[in-house]
Amino acid sequence: MKPTGLLFFPAFDWAISPTHPEREERLLYTRDQIFEEGIIDLPQIREYQPRLATPQDIARVHFCVPNVENIATEAHLVSAGGALVIGDAFIKDEIKNGFAIIRPPGHHAMTVAHGNRGFCNINNEAIMVEYLRRKYGIRRIAIVDTDVHHGDGTQEIYYHDPDVLFISFHQDGRTLYPGSGFVEELGWPTAWGTTINIPLAPYTTDEGILYTIDSLILPLLEEFKPELVVNSAGQDNHYSDPLANMLFTATGYAELNRRLAPDIAVLEGGYSVETALPYINLALIMAMAGIDYSNLREPDYDRSLLKENPDNLARLQKIVAIQLENFRRRDEEQAAQKKKYDEFYSTSRRIYYDTDNINENQQIRLRLCDNCCSYRVIASVGSRAGGRRYRVLCFSIPIYSCPDCREEARAAYSDSLKEGGAEFDYIYLQDRAADDYRCFDCRSDAEEAIS
Ligand SMILES: [Zn+2]
Ligand SMILES: [Zn+2]
Repeated sequence: MKPTGLLFFPAFDWAISPTHPEREERLLYTRDQIFEEGIIDLPQIREYQPRLATPQDIARVHFCVPNVENIATEAHLVSAGGALVIGDAFIKDEIKNGFAIIRPPGHHAMTVAHGNRGFCNINNEAIMVEYLRRKYGIRRIAIVDTDVHHGDGTQEIYYHDPDVLFISFHQDGRTLYPGSGFVEELGWPTAWGTTINIPLAPYTTDEGILYTIDSLILPLLEEFKPELVVNSAGQDNHYSDPLANMLFTATGYAELNRRLAPDIAVLEGGYSVETALPYINLALIMAMAGIDYSNLREPDYDRSLLKENPDNLARLQKIVAIQLENFRRRDEEQAAQKKKYDEFYSTSRRIYYDTDNINENQQIRLRLCDNCCSYRVIASVGSRAGGRRYRVLCFSIPIYSCPDCREEARAAYSDSLKEGGAEFDYIYLQDRAADDYRCFDCRSDAEEAIS
């Protein structure tokens, strides 16, 4: 029997601010709990040490403005690097599954990164997924986000990619940051139906969340048949979490993990630093390693929290039925949507970076192609309150693009260098097919490869 991989990176020297909820002590008690229970010494566990992710690993997913160094500190590179180590160990078959207990978290970080939003600078799961695709040629991946906050960054990164099924359940966006993740958010034309959101009412219990797993998430995974299942494991659905309003328990988390059986779990949120987070992390480790967790109880555990409100369950059943149907007609709907738009699908949006107080405006063009999910062109202007404004143009070519789309995108990038200087500060190329990442500085007319 292969062991469960465990990697621990608490980033004790990095925090947004000393009193911020995403701070150094977050994993201190988890570390103590793991040592106290002797988990590391068990034969079912194999411990791994993190390494630094490279600027190229980051540029494979993000357009960091103005550069990778400005967005990702060493703590961010080690946190992302921790996910890469667990990813390698899993694909090389050294472990049956693995859990990267890392911080800073990543699931609110989007393709273009002007700064920190929702405590996240770079997206650890997406960086791992693109690294594993590049290195091992895997293609179909499911990411199940079980954090109480909508995984809007991961959703955005894969909104055009039909080979990544992104599923997120979270406290309803009308009642919690980041205010998104509604049933109608299903993906752009090339990937319609491979983003599935389940907004949950505040005070949803173990029963409601496990019902969502059994009746919706497991059937979707069964039909999608991913080569890899990644769990964005946020522990902030817990009843004691100070940032949200759910009633999930540590045993509920263990049971969720047992049923979902992810290949890799990557830690996201969880801010009940002393009371719940160590228990939930332990619950996940035990479930992944097949260790009996039936005696695991929070000190203030209350059985009466477990029963779901019947009205809420009825509402959940409706969402499940709608999303099963949406997912099952995705091929048909993708074909219809592609016909509706001519060559390019265009949209615009505003993104707010709550931590760094940055306002970003984006205009996006997605090329529509019958043979691949083609390329994206993103024009972005990000202004920091009382700080600099950056105007950037980004070309993103997916790893499994067809040769025609790739050639067209590279030509468009080259053309933009000749005339873009007046309008933009930087122009970026992200060619995942060639693993080639570039940054063109419009003021000095200098192009640099990111390596
Ligand atoms: Zn969260
Ligand atoms: Zn194409």
